[in-house]
Amino acid sequence: MLQPLHRLCRGHTRYLSTSLATPQSFRKWYQQLWTTKRTNLPPYNHFTQVGDPVLRDKAAEVPADYVNSKEIHAIIDQMVNVLRKYDCVGIAAPQIGVSLRIIAMEFKQGIKKDLSEATYKARQMSELPLTVMINPQLAVTDYTKHKHPEGCMSVRGFSAEVERYAAVKLTGLNREGSATELELSGWNARIAQHEMEHLDGKLYTDHMDRSTFMCTCWETVNTKSGRVEIPFYK
Ligand SMILES: [Zn+2]
Repeated sequence: MLQPLHRLCRGHTRYLSTSLATPQSFRKWYQQLWTTKRTNLPPYNHFTQVGDPVLRDKAAEVPADYVNSKEIHAIIDQMVNVLRKYDCVGIAAPQIGVSLRIIAMEFKQGIKKDLSEATYKARQMSELPLTVMINPQLAVTDYTKHKHPEGCMSVRGFSAEVERYAAVKLTGLNREGSATELELSGWNARIAQHEMEHLDGKLYTDHMDRSTFMCTCWETVNTKSGRVEIPFYK
């Protein structure tokens, strides 16, 4: 028998609680104020942030019976929706609160206009059509390491230089559940390595060059006398 999918997802219902030692009626009334059910459950429409335990869990494999199910399709659709809404290049299911081994990547040509030609070249960036991988496995095919600045939507507002392997091979299942493999190099190999780490509860900050860790808007903080906000929504 299939296990209900919600048991695979991290969707605990949490309650705010109070332990007032007061007469029953007052206590009941008071508790009622604080025991409102949390209604915003995964898959979220935003990125989970560092500190959320879901980003530190080892994500579970999607069971064979669920690959190509409407439940998994709904999670993937939400991942792609969030990926595109925030204009980023990769997303892992734990980043929308779902502890399952699914990643999505997309590097659009349009990103080029926001970068200098030199940067685009140095980082070995190239277009990558939307790629979804369920239960992906990564094998390094070129152990040369390259160090470049990297950020993460789950560590919003910061970046640091991170060493990554030059080329990798990803194998896994696509959205429809067919076996698929993909050879990636340069920046796209970096995206794959970053997203794969999310599935094992790791973040780039675990192995970044700590001396390069920075707030991405530190200069604006100075010019605007500190009046800068980093939004966690879009
Ligand atoms: Zn990330």
